[in-house]
Amino acid sequence: MAQIDGLPPLRDVIAKHGLNAKKSLGQNFLLDLNLTSRIAKSAGPLDDCTILEVGPGPGGLTRALLAAGARKVVAVEKDSRCLPALQEISDHYPGRLQVIEGDALALDPVALTGGGKVRIAANLPYNVGTQLLVNWITTDTWPPFWSSLTLMFQKEVGERIVAQPGSKSYGRLAVLAGWRCKSGILFDLNPKAFTPPPKVTSAVVHLTPNPAPLRCDLSALERITAAAFGQRRKMLRASLKSLTPDAEALIVSAGLLPTARAEEIDVAGFVHLAEAFKSVRAV
Ligand code: SAM
Repeated sequence: MAQIDGLPPLRDVIAKHGLNAKKSLGQNFLLDLNLTSRIAKSAGPLDDCTILEVGPGPGGLTRALLAAGARKVVAVEKDSRCLPALQEISDHYPGRLQVIEGDALALDPVALTGGGKVRIAANLPYNVGTQLLVNWITTDTWPPFWSSLTLMFQKEVGERIVAQPGSKSYGRLAVLAGWRCKSGILFDLNPKAFTPPPKVTSAVVHLTPNPAPLRCDLSALERITAAAFGQRRKMLRASLKSLTPDAEALIVSAGLLPTARAEEIDVAGFVHLAEAFKSVRAV
């Protein structure tokens, strides 16, 4: 096991602080500091920004980020049992780790990180990971407060984020992510890398903001993709009927074929549909 920082092995930290994993908090810990170092390094330069980490747990990724040179890590953890272990890391790296006890879904990430350049890196709790991602990629202000996201998800979720039209995984998440970001899967993580091991393979996904996404009304895009992928086997002229009685005219005005199916429509097509829908609603 790697020795990256002179702190005790994570297994000892977990035993010392009684951090038996809780399923309700999505706790699957990464104890191999070689692996967490690989993830930390894939987050990009760490010395020119603040890193926001959600769910540091016993601190495997936190330690790797700090050992790799992170100037400042702000870590939000819901489980108060982890705080003493995180305090030990904070003492080891004076002034570089700020731990906030709380629910990342309820906290304002901009206020937490205090402006300036931010990268987000996290082994996300599976039960809130997708919602956090959606929050980060649908901020009102664009470009957003973050300059990259390096996130661990269940592999199936990672595939839904990076999916291209025509694939089985292509859906609402891929359209949102494809509209505002460039994304890719960096590598997979075997369930055995985690304690306790989850049932499925995980993947590290890296996203950077698209500096100039097509102009689009977010709520219209969400309604269009919900309707279109809610009935993904149907032609658009049928699946979009729930939104407007004249779905066919809407689709044609967006420059698309009423007989196309949701999974054949690229991101630009969905943006055109959303904008057409917005103008129909405004009439
Ligand atoms: N980063 C650690 C690692 O890689 O070993 C732990 C990752 S574990 C998959 C997810 C962590 O997120 C847990 O420590 C859990 O307590 C924390 N967590 C769960 N829900 C949270 C929430 N809503 N806000 C902040 N942290 C949360």
